[in-house]
Amino acid sequence: MKDSDKEKEQEMSLSLNNDLIVSENFVDGKWVEAIDGKTLDVINPTTEEVIAKVPLGEKKDVQRAASAARKAAYEWGRTPPKERADMMFALADKVLADIDNLAQLETFNSGHPISVVSGEVRSGADRLRFFGGAGRTLEGRSAGEYARGYTSIIRREPIGVAGLITPWNYPLLTAITKMSPALAAGNTIVLKPSEQTPLTTLRLAKLAEGIFPAGVINVITGYGENAGAEMASNKEIDIISLTGGTDTGKVVARIASDTLKHVHLELGGKAPAIVLDDADPKQVAESLKWASFWNAGQDCSAASRVIVTKKSYENVIKALLDAVQSLNVGDPSVESTQMGPLTHLAHNKNVLGYFSRAQKNGAKVLTGGSRMNRQGYFVEPTIMTDVDQKSEIVQKEVFGPLITIQKAEDNNQAIQMANDIEYGLGASIYTNNIGFAMEASRQLKFGTVWINDHGAVTAEMPWGGFKQSGYGKERSIYSLEDYTQIKHVMIKLPD
Ligand code: NDP
Repeated sequence: MKDSDKEKEQEMSLSLNNDLIVSENFVDGKWVEAIDGKTLDVINPTTEEVIAKVPLGEKKDVQRAASAARKAAYEWGRTPPKERADMMFALADKVLADIDNLAQLETFNSGHPISVVSGEVRSGADRLRFFGGAGRTLEGRSAGEYARGYTSIIRREPIGVAGLITPWNYPLLTAITKMSPALAAGNTIVLKPSEQTPLTTLRLAKLAEGIFPAGVINVITGYGENAGAEMASNKEIDIISLTGGTDTGKVVARIASDTLKHVHLELGGKAPAIVLDDADPKQVAESLKWASFWNAGQDCSAASRVIVTKKSYENVIKALLDAVQSLNVGDPSVESTQMGPLTHLAHNKNVLGYFSRAQKNGAKVLTGGSRMNRQGYFVEPTIMTDVDQKSEIVQKEVFGPLITIQKAEDNNQAIQMANDIEYGLGASIYTNNIGFAMEASRQLKFGTVWINDHGAVTAEMPWGGFKQSGYGKERSIYSLEDYTQIKHVMIKLPD
């Protein structure tokens, strides 16, 4: 980075307003320290400095929160859906009124560009509203007489206490995405954000204070292996919902099996984007520039494997190189920045490890490939070609600013390569041949398939993986149903 650029960035960048930081946990409607008084450092990935200390919640902190949630579950489950919706709408209003503060905190804690985080906050408010309203429409089958002399009815009931564990890539949005269906369906919650990015979740609890009855929303900050594992095993928690890596999902499912609690897993992805010969390379490149490098590629549905049929292979490479090299990477608190740093140091090292092993195995780096020569956990936007379908760089989730570009002999081989992966979260196909696109959408083994786009989402439509990307849906009425259980009531009629 040139000295003149550095000065320009410094002039334009924001400084964090420390008054926004909430440094206690929220349990049973009160703000508390960790029971043992320990704390956890929170780091700004742009400056590598400690910006806050939050409680280091451990097993007994989770137990205290789970007991509070259990105590509140009876009344909350009996609260009419309209009243629950009113509270969720009130929280949505507060979230929107606090948009600049939440955006600022997210930018300083996660490294998301300030120009995009306000959109995440707005999506969060929209999800609160969507689920608040949807909770009033839950339905089951109509009552019926299936045995002589009996009437059967279906009740759709809350599961009880929901343990929600979120990752660091979209901290606020994922917290809201998980809590909205859980609350709307009548469950109380214990929410644990990632140790790396707790600040917006704590502020969300601050905004919820006074809206919801004590114990309905509890937030504990701490490490996954300790506080998170306790949530998976705790007997007072009835459903555990995790968004995280596939390995973590397997650990959580294993622990949860001891109590046979419900398990809801939104796990890793490695999304293919198939580009057929008839697609316009420039339009595809402009679309993938965002779909692949949004949030520095730290996105479970990032278009990380671009598979191009052979006639347009060279043209697509050229268009992608131009698009990716035009990305404005820098201080995320500067309005013009399009890509910030990776969110934490261990992840930065992890991503660079993938890059160097891929190069040793013969991958060709067309652009990027290294850590940026500046303060912060920045990694260059990277394009690699000459990668083998079975290689680590193609098969494993890198979760960083990387696309690999592969050539397919024909349309069918492109689909085969896209499916040849353990993950199944999102996939896309770019073509004007709508007939083939529809056939591809049927064959692609992924929970979401986009046609001529990659990455667009909406509260009304489901999100969730096939294969090792997990099970259970986020967003949509299907997610609401995941937080309910069905009861059959059978009534003996008089003779
Ligand atoms: P991790 O799996 O490392 O962590 C996710 C959450 O689980 C964190 O809160 C973590 O706590 C916690 N955790 C870690 N170990 C345990 C454990 N043994 N028991 C209980 N909880 C635990 O994922 P990342 O935070 O690194 O997030 C990135 C991953 O999330 C990627 O694989 C990505 O694809 C996936 N993801 C999936 C999405 C989807 O919709 N399918 C959306 C977004 C991300 P701590 O941070 O304190 O360790």
